[in-house]
Amino acid sequence: MTHYTLRELFLRHVAQTSASPMAIEVERAEGIYLYAPDGRRWIDLAAGVSVSALGHGNPRVVEAVRRQAERYMHLMVYGEYVQSPQVRLARRLAELLPPQLSCVYFVNSGSEAIEGAVKLAKRFTGRTEIAAFRNAYHGSTHGALSLMSNEEYKRPFRPLLPDVKFLNFNDIGDLEQISKRTACVVAEPVQAEAGAVTPQNDFLLHLRRRCTDTGALLVFDEVQTAMGRTGAVFAFQKYGAVPDILVLAKSLGGGMPLGAFIASQELMNALANAPALGHITTFGGHPVSCAAGLAALEVLMDEKLTQQAASKSAAIRHLLGKCPAIKEIRGEGLLLAVRLASADALQAFLGRALANGIATDGFLHCPTAFRIAPPLIITHAQIEEACQIICRCAA
Ligand code: PMP
Repeated sequence: MTHYTLRELFLRHVAQTSASPMAIEVERAEGIYLYAPDGRRWIDLAAGVSVSALGHGNPRVVEAVRRQAERYMHLMVYGEYVQSPQVRLARRLAELLPPQLSCVYFVNSGSEAIEGAVKLAKRFTGRTEIAAFRNAYHGSTHGALSLMSNEEYKRPFRPLLPDVKFLNFNDIGDLEQISKRTACVVAEPVQAEAGAVTPQNDFLLHLRRRCTDTGALLVFDEVQTAMGRTGAVFAFQKYGAVPDILVLAKSLGGGMPLGAFIASQELMNALANAPALGHITTFGGHPVSCAAGLAALEVLMDEKLTQQAASKSAAIRHLLGKCPAIKEIRGEGLLLAVRLASADALQAFLGRALANGIATDGFLHCPTAFRIAPPLIITHAQIEEACQIICRCAA
């Protein structure tokens, strides 16, 4: 019988998303490090795309998972039984959010949370138009994909949702296109996959005002930005614009799959009436995911990791600012995009970085930049080590 390596079996039997997966074999992960079976080690600067905010294997999160798995795992479809991990996490989120964001609908992923948020907006407003921003990424399901402007990703999958309008991020004039026909505007406070594009000139406040004036609901997709990454627990707090619906996923589950959309109780009731069961899910708010998420949120708050994001970000900018091959560093807190001279330079860099102990990746809509979105627990000494390797590999 032919003996295949695990990597060969991965390429053969695990469905691939591109012709060039990173395909490194990770045997275990701890803190900010990923370890290969042969003992090689990578500094994880992607954190599973903003998921592993506390690093890998945080003992409080692992213990919460173990205890909840022993107590019970899945019991019943979402919304029927009272399950304490869901209730406690929802309550803790509500405590941290403004009063109008008090009611949490748990799902499994970011895409699914976007689907729920858009359905809620359509149902509540009775309108059909959805506005989104160019170069955003909100997920890969049909509805979420419909909100992506980049035609090459959409063309083979049409028909998608009708009545979607695209606006330019940071273009205040474009906000005029939001009207009384618009059910909702979906926006990332910092456009992650566009290459960490931050809002300028109070753009989010202008957006908030236009939504209020037209009755369009404002949906903030904080799938990548929330849970401390930008230096506030929720990025919208930095910019002073409060959404009607807040979408969370990625690090919300502390490394377990969990998404959520959050709104007022009045809004959320629309999904429970006419029709009842207007949005349902089997695994949404899985008790083990919610227990992990609650433990992760407690660690985030207890260890004041949010407050450290700014100084760690400044340290990275300072160290990489000295590196001539780096053309620009964009972003907020520990969601950074580092731009090189060309797409070819980026590809060469990523290969060299991986060979030299740095695991990171590019952005979906920015072919010249790589991601620095490490676990928030990264230390200043580890930042120095990582930046030295990056400078060497970028040169
Ligand atoms: N929104 C944003 C901003 C994202 O970055 C992503 C995932 N990269 C999603 C939504 C979709 O999340 P998921 O992959 O969990 O469906």
